[in-house]
Order: sequence, then C-alpha cells, then structure tokens
Amino acid sequence: MTHLAGAEELAALREAVRAVCVKYGHDYFVASSSDGSNARTFWNELGALGALGVAVPEEFGGGGQGLEALAVVAEEMAANGLPMMLIALSPAVCATMIKDHGSAAQKQQWLPGLADGSKVMAFAITEPDAGSNSHNISTKAVYEDGEWVISGQKYYVSHVDNSDAMVVIANAEGGPDQLPPGPKAFLVPSEVEGLSKTEIQVEIISPESQFSLFFDRVRVPAHAIVGGEKGLGVLFTGLNPERILSAALLNGISRYAIDKATAYARERVVWGAPIGTHQAIAHPLARAETRLAGARLLTLVSARAADRGETGGVAAAMAKVEASETASMALDAAIQTHGGNGMAREYGLSTLSGLVRLFRIAPVSTEMMLNHIAHKALRLPRSYG
Ligand SMILES: Cc1cc2nc3c(=O)[nH]c(=O)nc-3n(C[C@H](O)[C@H](O)[C@H](O)COP(=O)(O)OP(=O)(O)OC[C@H]3O[C@@H](n4cnc5c(N)ncnc54)[C@H](O)[C@@H]3O)c2cc1C
Repeated sequence: MTHLAGAEELAALREAVRAVCVKYGHDYFVASSSDGSNARTFWNELGALGALGVAVPEEFGGGGQGLEALAVVAEEMAANGLPMMLIALSPAVCATMIKDHGSAAQKQQWLPGLADGSKVMAFAITEPDAGSNSHNISTKAVYEDGEWVISGQKYYVSHVDNSDAMVVIANAEGGPDQLPPGPKAFLVPSEVEGLSKTEIQVEIISPESQFSLFFDRVRVPAHAIVGGEKGLGVLFTGLNPERILSAALLNGISRYAIDKATAYARERVVWGAPIGTHQAIAHPLARAETRLAGARLLTLVSARAADRGETGGVAAAMAKVEASETASMALDAAIQTHGGNGMAREYGLSTLSGLVRLFRIAPVSTEMMLNHIAHKALRLPRSYG
C-alpha cells in the first residue's frame, strides 16, 4: 500500500529525524568515518524510527510514503551534519529495485530489513573500463548447472564492507528463461566464495568506505536475478531515486553550510560591525540561499514525479546538477565566511569538502546529467550510448 505523505506527516517526520540527528551531530559523522563503526548505531536508530523505510510498502514493514518522504529524511540528516550517502543506495536504489521488480520471495527476504535498517545493501555497477558508459560493462553472469556464475570487476563500490548483500549489474548469458542479452541485476551476498574486496583510499570524510571488487566465478542461485528479462528497466528504476536522494542530501548540506555561515557572520566582528554587514560576505550566502530554493523545488518535483509513477528523469537530472553545484557554492561561501576557522576541523565545514566535490562526479557526473537534459529536454542529438 502506498499512501503519499501529507504536509503534516512530512513535518512530523522531519522533526523526528532532526531529533535523532542532534543526538549524534557532525563530530560523530567525522569520527565514524575512521573508527570502523560506519555510523551503524545512528543508522540503526533511524531504522528503528521508521525513517529509512518510509518509501517501502507497508506490507513489508515500511511507511509506504514514497520518495518525497525519503528525500525529507536525507535532507534532514545532512542539514544536521550527517550526510550519509548510504541513504541514496540501500533504501533508495536497492529497495526501489526490489520493491518494483523483485520476486515475492526477494521482497519478503529483503524489504523488511532494508526498511528497519537491520539489513544494508550496496550497489555495484561501475567498472574501471566502462566508467560512465555502463552499457559497456564486461562483468558477466553465465548460467551453469542451475546457478549464475559471476566473473568480472567493479570499482568504487561504497559501504560493501558493512552490507549484507549488493545489487550487482552484470551481463547475463543463458538462463532458464533464455533471457535476451544485456545487463541484468543480481542479488549477491557481500561475503561469498570467489569475491575479493580491496579498499580504495579516497580523500572524503564519510562513514562509507570504497572498494574494488573482483568476482572470480562467484556462484549465486538462479533466483538471485531481479526482474528477469526486464534488465535495463530494473536498473533505470533505481537510478532516479539515487539522483533524487543525492540531491536531497546535497540540499541538506547547503542548509547546514548556510546556517553555520550566517550564525558566524552575525556574531563575528572585526571592523566594528558583524562581518555579515559586508556585502562580500552576505551576497554569496544570499545567492547560495536563492539557488538552494531552486534546487529544493527541483528535488521536490522529481520526487513527486517518481511517486506518481512518472519517469521524471529530466527533473531528477536537473535536481542533481543544481543541488551539487549549489552545495559546492554554499560550502565554499561558508568556509570563506569563517576565514581561517573555515579550515579548522572543529567548525565542521572543510570536513565536507571532499564529499561535496564527489557529488559532481558520482553517482553520476554533471556532464552525463547535462548530456541527458540536452538529449531528452532539448532534443539535441545524442552524444553518448
Ligand atoms: C566515493 C565514490 C563512491 C562511489 N560509489 C559507487 C557505488 O556505490 N557504486 C558504483 O557502482 N559506483 C560508485 N562510484 C562510481 C561513480 O559512479 C563513477 O565514478 C562515476 O559514474 C564516473 O565514472 P568514472 O569514474 O569511471 O569516470 P569516467 O566515465 O571515466 O569519466 C571521466 C570524466 O569524463 C566525463 N565524461 C565521460 N563521458 C562523457 C560524455 N559522454 N560527455 C561528457 N563528459 C563525459 C565525466 O563526466 C568525468 O568528468 C563511486 C565513486 C566514488 C568516487
């Protein structure tokens, strides 16, 4: 059952998430990126609250309230200094694919745990040689003796060290239903014979670590495929939620940065007046606030389109582009407002520099989003794929 949340429900959700977040704060986010805890306590508390499962149907233990509600959760986490990118992966990409295309058994096995946070999933599509061109992936799943045998390599798979399973995109060959060739989604346990993981060191502070994965004839059962012949359709189901949730996180980061900067600019006096008096300080913050208003609207429009079952790909792409550029701008203005303190860890701004920069590259780059907008909205000739 889906009953989309109304304004009062969303306001209550926002407040409940905020109340959990303020107990942890940005220092916890920073500490859990290096102490091996992966912010799991925080994640579990959000799960127990029902916040991670708001978009999961009620019959599987979720709130049935759609992506607009999940975007509220993500924005509020980030606005309080806890922008966990995992929310764009496990409850958004993976739960949506399973909800929309999984078998009855897959839904029963995974959705309740993804909803209450007790289960976590990673998502593995990117490959070193294919990069943004995911049509070109070479990881294969060959059907042998009643099982899928997966071989290949993925890189930059987030949080797989702290997940129960992952959705792996691989080219299927054969299979009981003689599937057409092309990429398909498979549910693969994170600990399985033949799978090795190597951590990639990145200059990002976040509880999620990054891994290269090598699949050396990893065997999964025939029923591990999600959505069978639908293939790319399953994949596309997950990509819009990822973009919308990334945009929501980025909007939260912009709010966090602008809030900190304006508080500082009201208090800090160096020439006899608060520095916020100077337009060189005020205008970048006012511009960031203006762009944030636009990015939030685009995020809302794209989330509502998804909840109505519309494609909404252009709106999601625009939301992702605007939110990521706005967050870069807002964070930069906030750091500049703080002067030297902008670089101090205790002020909690430069700690987000790597993460905010990342979101112009991943989960999909600005260039690829602009390609999509140019092709779909402007009907310019396609330059990719
Ligand atoms: C911290 C981090 C976490 C990640 N998490 C995950 C994850 O959990 N799962 C996963 O599967 N992947 C993940 N990724 C991978 C991420 O999705 C890719 O890095 C991203 O899609 C870009 O692919 P690429 O790095 O291969 O860059 P490339 O495809 O090599 O692109 C390089 C540059 O060229 C540009 N470019 C490429 N093609 C075009 C074109 N046609 N037109 C214009 N410009 C173009 C790109 O925009 C980019 O600027 C993560 C990456 C990072 C860094």
